Amino acid sequence: MASMNRVDTGAVFKHPVHCFGCHEVFYFTLREIAGAQKLACPQCDSDINLADRAYESLIIWAKDTIAVIDQIQNSPPCRALQVVV
Ligand SMILES: [Zn+2]
Repeated sequence: MASMNRVDTGAVFKHPVHCFGCHEVFYFTLREIAGAQKLACPQCDSDINLADRAYESLIIWAKDTIAVIDQIQNSPPCRALQVVV
């Protein structure tokens, strides 16, 4: 897991998601988009069903971006120095 003093980019970076209930756009974090099956619209309270095909490309993009972020965040800065003695 990420340490306390490290910012989780995926939990900070937000992306607009269109709600088909009220036709407004709301911002959710990448981890919410990539990890949730559905999101609750903060305005009309309807479910934003991320399993819907309309969100398919957004989900793929969000997961790809999260994967890249995790790769960067989880790679130790001094991997070359971790020599087994
Ligand atoms: Zn809505």
